[in-house]
Amino acid sequence: MGAERTPGQAVPPALPSLSAPIIERAPLPVVEVEGSTHVVSYVNSAFCSLMGKSRGDLVGKSFAEIIPRGDECLPLLTRVYQTGEALTHVQEDDSEADPAVWLYAMWPALDANERPVGLVIQLAKAAKLRHDVTAINEALLLAGLRQHELNAHLRQEIVERKRVEEALRESEGQLAATARDKDEFLAMLSHELRNPLASITMAAHSIRMVKSDDSTIVEAQQIIERQADHLARLVDDLIEVSRVEQGKVRLRKEPMDLAKAISRAVDSCEHLIKTQDHTISLDLQHIPPLTIEADPTRVDQVLVNLIGNAAKYTPPHGALNIKASREDGMAVIRVRDNGIGIEHTMLRRVFDLFAQVDHSLERSQGGLGLGLKLVKDLVEMHGGNVEAKSEGLNRGSEFIVRLPFSEQVAATPSAEKAADVRGSSKRILVVDDRPDNRDAMAVFLKLSGHSVEVAEDGLQAVEKALRSHPDVAFVDIGMPTMSGYDVAKEIRLAPGGESIVLIAVSGYGSREDKRTALAAGFDAHLTKPFDPDEITKILNELERFRLR
Ligand code: ADP
Repeated sequence: MGAERTPGQAVPPALPSLSAPIIERAPLPVVEVEGSTHVVSYVNSAFCSLMGKSRGDLVGKSFAEIIPRGDECLPLLTRVYQTGEALTHVQEDDSEADPAVWLYAMWPALDANERPVGLVIQLAKAAKLRHDVTAINEALLLAGLRQHELNAHLRQEIVERKRVEEALRESEGQLAATARDKDEFLAMLSHELRNPLASITMAAHSIRMVKSDDSTIVEAQQIIERQADHLARLVDDLIEVSRVEQGKVRLRKEPMDLAKAISRAVDSCEHLIKTQDHTISLDLQHIPPLTIEADPTRVDQVLVNLIGNAAKYTPPHGALNIKASREDGMAVIRVRDNGIGIEHTMLRRVFDLFAQVDHSLERSQGGLGLGLKLVKDLVEMHGGNVEAKSEGLNRGSEFIVRLPFSEQVAATPSAEKAADVRGSSKRILVVDDRPDNRDAMAVFLKLSGHSVEVAEDGLQAVEKALRSHPDVAFVDIGMPTMSGYDVAKEIRLAPGGESIVLIAVSGYGSREDKRTALAAGFDAHLTKPFDPDEITKILNELERFRLR
C-alpha cells in the first residue's frame, strides 16, 4: 500500500493512466480518492460542474467534505478499500433547497501488484421530484382504488351475464321443447289425417271405376278426389316444412333434365290450370340441354308449388308462362303470371312461414302459406336461390329460381322407362286394423280385377299369408298388439314366406320409416294416402320384387 496522505497535503498530478482523457470527458461525474482516508486526488470536469467548484477547490480535500452528507458514505468507501469489492449505493437528500437522490458506484483503484491504493467513485445526481412523486403515488393509489371498483363492477357484470345466459339457455330449452312438441304434433296430426285421406282417395277411385252415367255422381266423385288430393298436398307440405326446418331432409342429387321436370309439373297442375281456363306457354331453351344436379322429387315440389300458385293467384282466363334458360352458369326458371300481383312490401315476406297476403281472391284459394317457404328452403339446399318480382297489385308476378348446372347428361329416370301395361289378376292380402282403410282398398283392388283377402290384425295377417300364400300383401304398420314390422319379420322367417311380395303401408313416410320397413323384410313402402295408380304400378311390376 502506498504512503498515506492526509487532506490538505500537496496534491499530486492526476493519475497518469490511459483512461484519464476518457474519464475527463465522460458525462458522468467521477472522483478518485487515495488511501484509507479517502483524500480526493482527481475530479473530472463533470464533477466540477456538478459541484459548481473548480478542481483546485476540491482536490486534496477529504471526500466527506466535498459531498453533501459525504460522511455517510465513508464506511462504504472503507469497505471497498478493504475488501476490493465494488459497490453501489443510493442516498436520498431531503434538504428543502435541493432534494435529490445520489447514486454512487465505487470500485477500488489497484497498483501494479493488485493492491488497493484508492477508489474511483462515479456519481449521479437525480433531482428528487417530491411533488411529482406524491402526485404519482396519489394517482397510483387512485388508480388502485378505481381498479378495485372496476373489479367489483366487473364481478357484478359477470354474475349478471351468467344469470342472463342461464335465462337464455332456459328459454332456448323451452323453445326447443316447444319446437319438438310442435313437430311431434305435426307428425301425429299428419298421420291421423293421412289415414282417413287414404280411405277417401281409394273410395273415390272405386266410384270412378264403377263408371256411372249419372252426372251428379261423376261430379261428386271428382270433387271428392280433387279435394282429397288438395288435402293430401297440404299435409305433405306441412310435414315437409317441419322436416326441412329440423334438417331431416337429405337431398338425393342426380343429373336431371329440367325441361322434363317442368313438363311433369305442368301436368300435375293441369287440372287447376284447366279449371281456371288459363293458357300456359312454355319457353324452354333445350340446347344445350338443361341438365341440373338436383334431387328430382324436390325440384318437382318446387315447380309444382310455383306453377300452382301462378294458377291460383291469377283470375280466370289468365296467361301463365314458364321460361327456362342458362344464365351465368346457372339454370334459371321463370314462372310468370298476369294475375293479382304482389305489393312491393310483401315481395320478400311471401317466403316466410305461414306468410299470406290477405286479398279476398287469395283467401278464397285456401292454403297455409307453406309452399313458398318450402320452395325457398329446397332451392337454397341445392345451392340456388329464388326471388319474387311484381310491378304491384293486379300486375302479375314472376318467381325466378336459379339452380346450379350439371355438366353431365341426365339419365332417363327409371319411372319414365317403366311400361304402364295392365297386368294379370293377382291374389292380394290387405292388412289394416281400420275397417274403412281395409274396405276402401279391398273394394278398389276387387274392382281392378284382383282376388282379395283381408286381415284385421297382425296375427290374422301372418296366419292368412302363410296359409294362402298371396302374390302380394299390403300391410299397415301401425296396428295394436302386433305391428306391421313384426308381421313382415314372421312371414319372412316362415317356409315359403320369402316369396310373398310385402308392401308396407303407413301414415309416416320419412326415409327413416322406409329404411325400417325394408330392414323388417318389406319389399317397398307406401305412404298414405297413396295414388291408386301407384298400387296399379306395383301390381304390374311384382316380378321386379321377386327377382330380389
Ligand atoms: P299459400 O299459397 O298456401 O298461401 P305460399 O307460401 O305458396 O302459400 O304463398 C304465400 C303467399 O304468397 C300467398 O298466400 C300469396 O299471398 C302470395 N303468392 C304466392 N304466389 C303468388 C302469385 N303467383 N301471385 C300473387 N301472389 C302470390
